[in-house]
Amino acid sequence: MKILSLLLFITLSFSLSAQNDGFSIVLHGGAGYITPENLSESKQIAYQSSLSNALALGTQILERGGTSEEAVITVIIFLENDTLFNAGRGAVLTHDNKVSHDASIMNGSDLNAGAIAGSSRIKNPIRGAAAVKDFSEHVFLSGNGAEEFAELQSLEMVPPDYFILQSRLDQLDKILKNENKSSGYILDPIVGNGKFGTVGCVALDTDGNITAATSTGGMMNKKYGRIGDSPMIGAGTYANNKTCGVSCTGHGEYFIRVGVAKEISDQIQFGQVPLKDAVHYTISESLNNLNGKGGVIAIDSLGEIVIEFNTPGMFRAWQKAGEEPQIQMFK
Ligand code: ASP
Repeated sequence: MKILSLLLFITLSFSLSAQNDGFSIVLHGGAGYITPENLSESKQIAYQSSLSNALALGTQILERGGTSEEAVITVIIFLENDTLFNAGRGAVLTHDNKVSHDASIMNGSDLNAGAIAGSSRIKNPIRGAAAVKDFSEHVFLSGNGAEEFAELQSLEMVPPDYFILQSRLDQLDKILKNENKSSGYILDPIVGNGKFGTVGCVALDTDGNITAATSTGGMMNKKYGRIGDSPMIGAGTYANNKTCGVSCTGHGEYFIRVGVAKEISDQIQFGQVPLKDAVHYTISESLNNLNGKGGVIAIDSLGEIVIEFNTPGMFRAWQKAGEEPQIQMFK
């Protein structure tokens, strides 16, 4: 009898210690020239409320013991459907007035990942990425192929016009006129004229599983089928339960060249560097050395949340179990 209770005690303590005692969630809505001067009061209120609602959706799922994957997908779908952000409906436009979505998702438990790029008919691109992860033998699908696969998976499809807003058409028009006037000079797409709004989310659930995901329309006025870092595993998104989960936003070309998300994870894995220092090194050294602009959100296996950016602002919200929700936009 005594041996039996001892065994029960050992099993119980083991399963309790293997479990995380809480959860953490962090989301972003893009980094860029986000300052109080640049954002009207009514816009600030709109962003504040959207970020707060998105966070609440994710937190509710984690509070009732739902998975980090469920939380992250729910948050991203909400932000994709919100026209305030450069993802899903309301995404920025390509040089030829089209939308071209990129999205990715990764599970830290088994390093399973899925991504799509250059789609314009999948209503929620993050669902496309998740379907690639769960139901295909591939990691990354693009263009017509990604859409064909999404249709086969019975995902909701919409005509490309569904995503296009008049405000985005006007914005592109203005940029093209300036481009012609200034004989080819283009303002810095992230810092110079404020086309921020990519969305991302990272969560750690009470089972200790981390999921990271990112969704975007990419960069305004992009050409030649350009794809950014957001759908690239290791650049814009990464998750590993042993280290951390990361979602990035910013000038994708630089994030790809650095391999931002994986570089952060590698510092923890191979250098035993704390998440805060790993993120700081990647932003302030690796990215700054190339003059790349943007930011990252990250959570480590202990639920530590880190956010860092080298732009004037970043839309962000986060919460840990038992703590108050936090929403911020400016430095
Ligand atoms: N990283 C995205 C891209 O380069 C854009 C952004 O995050 O604002 O496509």
